[in-house]
Amino acid sequence: MATTSETTNGERTPEKMHFVIVGGSLGGLATGIALKALGHDTTILERNPAPLLHDQGAGIVAGGHSLAFLQRYNRCQRKVVAVRSERRQYLDREGNVVHQIDAEQNMSSWGLTYHLMRANYDGLPSPYCDVPAPDPSQGAAVHLHDRTVTAVEAVHGSDNSGVCVSWQCTSDPSRTGSLRADRVIGADGPGSFIRSLFAPSTERTYAGYCALRGTVVEHEASPAARDTFANRFTFYHAPGIQILAYLIPGLHGTVEPGQRLINFVYYTNFPEGSPELDEILTDRHGRRHRITVPPGLMDPKAWQRQQDLARERLPPQFAEVVCKAERPFVQAVTDVLSPANEFLDGKVVLIGDALAGFRPHTVASTSQAAFDAMLYADYVAGKVGREQWKRLTMGYARFIQKRGVEMGQRSQHRVLPLEEYIRDRDEASVPIREEMFPEWATAV
Ligand SMILES: Cc1cc2nc3c(=O)[nH]c(=O)nc-3n(C[C@H](O)[C@H](O)[C@H](O)COP(=O)(O)OP(=O)(O)OC[C@H]3O[C@@H](n4cnc5c(N)ncnc54)[C@H](O)[C@@H]3O)c2cc1C
Repeated sequence: MATTSETTNGERTPEKMHFVIVGGSLGGLATGIALKALGHDTTILERNPAPLLHDQGAGIVAGGHSLAFLQRYNRCQRKVVAVRSERRQYLDREGNVVHQIDAEQNMSSWGLTYHLMRANYDGLPSPYCDVPAPDPSQGAAVHLHDRTVTAVEAVHGSDNSGVCVSWQCTSDPSRTGSLRADRVIGADGPGSFIRSLFAPSTERTYAGYCALRGTVVEHEASPAARDTFANRFTFYHAPGIQILAYLIPGLHGTVEPGQRLINFVYYTNFPEGSPELDEILTDRHGRRHRITVPPGLMDPKAWQRQQDLARERLPPQFAEVVCKAERPFVQAVTDVLSPANEFLDGKVVLIGDALAGFRPHTVASTSQAAFDAMLYADYVAGKVGREQWKRLTMGYARFIQKRGVEMGQRSQHRVLPLEEYIRDRDEASVPIREEMFPEWATAV
């Protein structure tokens, strides 16, 4: 039996536990890095059949908690992880700046963040960054791909602890296996299988619009578009439309001017059940996707229609990047929120998108994953009590989830003066502090 030690929060926890983490994207990797730094052993089970997740090539806003996470745990020599934006600005239909505010924000790419985390978790080499030297004080870090988790059950042994996690190979479902864990972390995204086992009535609902996304290499944009987007976070609103753009690191994480990417997110309404929604979510092979059509699979005819609409509706700089994007992709915007973040008396924990799938307007999904991972590690280390851990984790999830729904409803489904959208964005850009969470959000 594992030896236990008393922690500063008064709980007795085993000195060395084995955590099985379901999902090897940013949330799972962040949790793995934080727990192995405490000396615990971790195994990530990722359903993707290939060893690396496919980079959608898109941007993420590196919010305060994402940067705090990297400051605390990143052991790579590489420290530049983002392109800094110095100003938020709004365009009119002709492309003139009609409002601007000085405001620093850091923009990264999903690919760079993923590879930094893989280098720190399981030492995966990549052109993005160096690999830190092994640290013998850290726990074991195992990353297994091609493992779809199919069941999680409590094991009642003599020590009355433990969970059995069953998996099957994604590429060959006849190959199956199981692992014993002290704790299981569900970091399996907004469609979480783990959540469906323990909170089966939680539904993921479509918000009535999609995000069309893509990137253009900075030097391939016209001088006018480059001038508009360089080091700025730029927005345009019109009825049923919002588009925004910012610069992110380019190939293999380069932040060289000219090689960076102009990343856009173009929200546009597609009513539920409409032929337009079917068209945009049906790929070039005729397969209708439920949530995402990945890069390279968009139906050229459907994308051509969106490019024509972009030219009709958007300021010229935005229309240009939509029309120049080589590998656009589409994501249906959805809402989902779990009623709780722990189950089986704490043996099963949800983090990141599995706990709360935010609308992208909040630019907080990766920050939530980082926040959840750091706070959970503090709880496991005994620095934070169980109730505080639960209250803050649920506070973040509920507060930001509600904010995303409100921002999205206002920008997509109501016609408001531009000042209102600016105010929403200004509020969403204030760094998230725990004192901001209202009581209804932190109730557990
Ligand atoms: C391949 C990929 C590319 C992305 N690219 C971007 C981007 O460019 N910009 C952006 O803003 N956001 C992107 N996201 C989403 C972003 O990672 C999340 O919104 C945020 O970082 C929170 O991450 P998460 O780990 O909680 O959830 P997710 O990133 O959704 O990860 C969930 C992971 O769980 C795995 N999984 C699901 N079910 C099972 C199962 N039963 N067994 C084992 N594994 C399972 C999935 O394959 C996935 O890797 C991407 C996500 C993925 C998976």
